[in-house]
Amino acid sequence: MRKKIVAGNWKMNGSLELVNNLLPRLVEVSGEIQAEVLVCPPSLYLAQAKAQAGSQLAIGAQNCSEQVSGAFTGEISVAMLADLQLAHVLIGHSERRAIYGETDELVVSKVQAAIGAGLTAVLCVGETLAERESGDTLTVVLGQVNTVLSQIGTDQWSQLVIAYEPVWAIGTGKTASSEQAQEVHKAIRQELARSDADKAETVSILYGGSVKAANAGELFAQQDIDGALVGGASLDADEFISICRQAG
Ligand code: PEP
Repeated sequence: MRKKIVAGNWKMNGSLELVNNLLPRLVEVSGEIQAEVLVCPPSLYLAQAKAQAGSQLAIGAQNCSEQVSGAFTGEISVAMLADLQLAHVLIGHSERRAIYGETDELVVSKVQAAIGAGLTAVLCVGETLAERESGDTLTVVLGQVNTVLSQIGTDQWSQLVIAYEPVWAIGTGKTASSEQAQEVHKAIRQELARSDADKAETVSILYGGSVKAANAGELFAQQDIDGALVGGASLDADEFISICRQAG
């Protein structure tokens, strides 16, 4: 059985106050939530978030460097994340790809660095609206997935989570229909199965793109959707808790 995971990506939002208010609320209800709950606040708040989360919640970073250490001003290494006893890092989010020019090659290096440090890489993939409209969704998404799969071994898939996030659905209020999302999730799992059919069943594939309490249940009912990567709605405790509960 693969893990159900609900991850919150705070992006460059939140404050110490939000960390100190929202995380205790999540901890309080964590016993009633079956899915693994992962919160990814801005790096500056990771230590405080970890302190608030205790052992009930997972705290992860939104990004990491592909470099080991040294003169890389502003960067955060995977060893530093491991030092804080964090277990997860988002890699290749579409905002990193589009705004900061992260290429597939850089994404691969980051995934390798994260896995090498014992972390779980949450690999984000997804097509733009233009790519969807020109019928290239699966080519683009499977291409992004394969760039990474070709550089890591199947024995490392236990440290890999894939998040399918159509770029046109992120922060726009537009969600892929559950059928559109399932079609891509199924294709990703089939692609994994081409390397190892048994292990393909163990990799969690999350959906991301304007997930909220009102649409989570329908998405989670799909066979290959194993949870969600939630942006905006993860900043609201009630909304996020409701999504987590529905991941059952
Ligand atoms: C995200 O940041 O990964 C995301 C899916 O954002 P939102 O839920 O706000 O669309």
